[in-house]
Amino acid sequence: MTDATDAVTTPTPRRKPKPEITTIRGRPLKPSTLMMGHGYDPALSEGSLKAPIFLTSTFAFENAAAGKRHFEGITGKRPGGAEGLVYSRFNGPNQEILEDRLSIWDGAEDALSFSSGMTAITVMLLAYCSAGDVIVHSGPLYAATEGFVAKVLSKFGITYVDFPAGATREEMDTVLAKAKAQAEEHGGNVAMIYLESPANPTNALVDVEAMSAARDAAFGSDGPPIAIDNTFLGPLWQRPLDQGADIVVYSLTKYVGGHSDLVAGSIAGAKKWMDPVRALRNTMGGICDPNTAWMLLRSLETVELRMQRAGENAAKVCAFLRDHPKVERLGYLGFISDPRQQDIYNRHCLGAGSTFSLFIKGGEAEAFRFLDNMTIAKLAVSLGGTETLASLPAAMTHLSVPDERKAALGITDNLVRISIGIEDPDDLIADFDQALAKV
Ligand SMILES: *Cc1c(COP(=O)(O)O)cnc(C)c1O
Repeated sequence: MTDATDAVTTPTPRRKPKPEITTIRGRPLKPSTLMMGHGYDPALSEGSLKAPIFLTSTFAFENAAAGKRHFEGITGKRPGGAEGLVYSRFNGPNQEILEDRLSIWDGAEDALSFSSGMTAITVMLLAYCSAGDVIVHSGPLYAATEGFVAKVLSKFGITYVDFPAGATREEMDTVLAKAKAQAEEHGGNVAMIYLESPANPTNALVDVEAMSAARDAAFGSDGPPIAIDNTFLGPLWQRPLDQGADIVVYSLTKYVGGHSDLVAGSIAGAKKWMDPVRALRNTMGGICDPNTAWMLLRSLETVELRMQRAGENAAKVCAFLRDHPKVERLGYLGFISDPRQQDIYNRHCLGAGSTFSLFIKGGEAEAFRFLDNMTIAKLAVSLGGTETLASLPAAMTHLSVPDERKAALGITDNLVRISIGIEDPDDLIADFDQALAKV
């Protein structure tokens, strides 16, 4: 054996101790506990209790053999990513700590961080799809995701088949059969099943368990991965990997970041599903920057507290709005009327979240009056922040969606989307009450 080969099998010390303590007397520690220290050893950074921000473009190798070994991980010669730190387009301490902590929330083996939710989604889709392939996706999707699949991937000969979020197992079987036939016709494969649940802005839930079973029935054990955008309920209120999804996708800009002060994204799942995406991220860039990763580490320390409070606030506000004379109805997961949706909710969700649709009696004019009279709630798109936000999807985020599709998806001119924050709930109710009185 030469020295170089020898080095390949000799692990170098990492920036963090392995294995880490994740149980006490056999009892697994909860995510909220692990958020304070997991993946970081102060002894390796001058005792700094909090991780410093590593503003560097590149990392010095301990020796040449280590440099070679690390590049074997970067280039995919060995799966699982680099063993050490190399270059900031590939990895960095802040990003690695963030990825370790994100994995914990979803019970995932591995995670990857990105500069935005859309970077996470687009790099993942590109990593899995080749010319001739077909994507199966639920609808509606976040508008930019839907646009990327329909308008950008189509340029590379990648097509899609979509189905409504609330579809039954039988409908899923039909859609998968159609996608298989389409892939055969185009000389490709069904490359990915991409879900978003609850869907934006309708809050329609997808039956992930049914899709996982349908996928296994249609493709056997080596079927396409199921990815799911879990931005609306994750990581606290929905754990899709437990229902048979393979990859969870996040816009960390929303609940995880939680303060409306950053843009970032992530995916998480088994290493085998992360590896192709990591390889393409290494090539394309798009990794989260160290400052933003550091901000997210701080956000993760309070994500459970913030989401709990926002969820409780939303329940109180929705209880007030439910019977209000100016309100036509609510699209809130705490008050589901459809039995099929209720069944999916009971099997998949641990809470109703804090983002919902408020249908004001009337049309756009009434919705505008309501929005223009809110005082605590800010008139802005986005969601999941500490502050309450309100917007009108038909006139804003979904303005470009054709009228027929808007009608089919139930995106009406009186649908106000609300994201409840962590303010005092009685103040929020008073604000909704006075704004509705002006409608
Ligand atoms: C915001 C959002 C995205 C896109 O995330 P960015 O961080 O803005 O790129 C994707 N999916 C859902 C459900 C979102 O709400």
